[in-house]
Amino acid sequence: MQRTFYACKKKNIHSIVLAVAGDAMLALGGIMRACVIKSAGHIAIEQWPETPLRKDEVRLDFAWGGICGSDLHYYQHGRVANSIVREPMILGHEFSGIVCEAGDDVTGLSIGQPVVVNPSRPCNTCDQCGSGLTHLCRSMRYMGSAAHQPHTNGGFSERPVVLASQCRVLPKGFDLAVASLCEPFAVALHAVALGEIPPGATVLVTGAGTIGSLVAVAARNAGAGRLIVTDIAEPALTRIAKVTGAETFQVGSAELSAEAEAVIGEVDVTLECAGSANALDMAIRLTRPRGKIVQVGFLPPAAPLSLAGLLTREISLLGAYRFLEEFDLAVEQITNNAVDLSSFITGRYSMGQVEEAFVAAADRSRNVKVLLHFDT
Ligand SMILES: [Zn+2]
Ligand SMILES: [Zn+2]
Repeated sequence: MQRTFYACKKKNIHSIVLAVAGDAMLALGGIMRACVIKSAGHIAIEQWPETPLRKDEVRLDFAWGGICGSDLHYYQHGRVANSIVREPMILGHEFSGIVCEAGDDVTGLSIGQPVVVNPSRPCNTCDQCGSGLTHLCRSMRYMGSAAHQPHTNGGFSERPVVLASQCRVLPKGFDLAVASLCEPFAVALHAVALGEIPPGATVLVTGAGTIGSLVAVAARNAGAGRLIVTDIAEPALTRIAKVTGAETFQVGSAELSAEAEAVIGEVDVTLECAGSANALDMAIRLTRPRGKIVQVGFLPPAAPLSLAGLLTREISLLGAYRFLEEFDLAVEQITNNAVDLSSFITGRYSMGQVEEAFVAAADRSRNVKVLLHFDT
């Protein structure tokens, strides 16, 4: 029987033997390399069993994957907020690949097609899913997340398996490295949408990491007039100023100087992407009465905050988490070249140098987005 997975590039001998032996042995699967986190500081490329394909799934040849802040948190602390790594888990939720095998019921995708993956797997049955807010699903299985047990494996493996419905087809020849930025750009588009930026508004973005940088790009495109970005790292600010024309301010060890805050003045909307109490405090000081603050960065637990200004100036503070239909919007804008995000890719590493890559990704003075790929 002809099986489409013959197209997979890197199948090892084990799986080829199985393929020849026929369907009866397919359940045994093959072995692939995967980027596995076991606990804080313990990350490695390990052998991982391949799973048989379900009817609605596809197998991909991994192309490029971006190291996200949450991947870094798992690496550095073994946890992201309340999601604690309790068993080996494949990391990664920002990735692109090429379809190399398709389940029997898959339509609209064919072998050899380049795709980017939406890592969301909502339950589609809870009240949030029922009301269309699938990103707030009460039992979301987000790829590369330890929120549930067993953990939901991510995409950083040689041949990740995903639902066909998670895939978005990319134009032939489109840069698969740039495509891996669709997920973080979707997060940025979602946050900016919640900010409801009035045309010409003054917008403050605190934090110029990947999300902050992409939020600044999205805020500019959404009609921000005066755009201000703050960060503790100078290179990040230089880059974002070049791409968006934003005014940038470097924050000292803890806070912006009073003089700098006076120069910024009052802003209509703040997008807090630093995930720091100091940044949120500053946002509350600088946001105008009845203005809006969108919290995008994860705040540390028990962050000491001065929230009084929220009341006295009736500022709205709202959270932004992941994305909804913004994923498709991100794919559209990136593949149409409506945005050029390539300058935010500052490092490319082979999975063989995974620890080096994570150390580089944590170095905010040098890097924005660090990407990984498998050597053939
Ligand atoms: Zn991410
Ligand atoms: Zn749900």
